[in-house]
Amino acid sequence: MATTEDPAPKSTLPYPPLHKDKKFVVLSDWDGTITTRDSNDYMTDELGYGMEKRRQGNLDILAGKVTFRDAFREMLESVSGNGHSFEFCKEELKKNIVLDAGFKDFYRYCKRHDVPIVIISSGMAPIIRAVLSNLIGEEDSNTIEIVSNEVEVHEDGTWSIKYRHPTSGFGHDKSQAILPYRALPEPPLIFFFGDGVSDMSAARHADVLFVKEKPDGENDLAAYCVREGIPHILFADFGRALAVVADVVEGRTSAKQALDRGRAD
Ligand SMILES: [Mg+2]
Repeated sequence: MATTEDPAPKSTLPYPPLHKDKKFVVLSDWDGTITTRDSNDYMTDELGYGMEKRRQGNLDILAGKVTFRDAFREMLESVSGNGHSFEFCKEELKKNIVLDAGFKDFYRYCKRHDVPIVIISSGMAPIIRAVLSNLIGEEDSNTIEIVSNEVEVHEDGTWSIKYRHPTSGFGHDKSQAILPYRALPEPPLIFFFGDGVSDMSAARHADVLFVKEKPDGENDLAAYCVREGIPHILFADFGRALAVVADVVEGRTSAKQALDRGRAD
């Protein structure tokens, strides 16, 4: 009997056009990757049901006991359920979320070398856009596309996440941002950056996967990649990742050699 792969989940939200004429494209997770702290973790830990339950939720996702979609929705519901409006949360995050120390230099390098950066996030677009504009300025922020989930603010002031792929257990299946590139006659080389359980759907599809090492020990994507045997490069910050990306972009290193290094020092 013939087997078929699962069909691609239907997206309820639009995608930006593919960067068809580029040699390299950077796709990156936002929370905890471009930022030092995950904004959704921040909200859940500080304004929702707290770190202990949130952390258990992440570990349950990693172990396959629950889907990211369902566990993550619960985390955010605990924030809204505590009476925190979406606008309040956005302002709190603008005050408390900071960029990875090397990201600005990385962004400038990519801009100079015609390498688009697209944020691929399981967070909600209005928060990402507000925090990103606050951190790098509106003009630069507008050059970075965001493929993420959305928010639904209800009439009573409560809010909930609106998933891009509601039929997928990932809520946002990040592989769907990579696979269309694979179908191009001359696909660009895809660098993907991530850190956590929200990146599990993308991990095996990138040409060069960078996995962030977290000082807090919440290295869920690294644990997933080791378990699944997915080649990746550990990086502590974008400054270190930049050295590897520049070697590949400028032809000094192949993608395979970069992955063989295993770590960006
Ligand atoms: Mg993340």
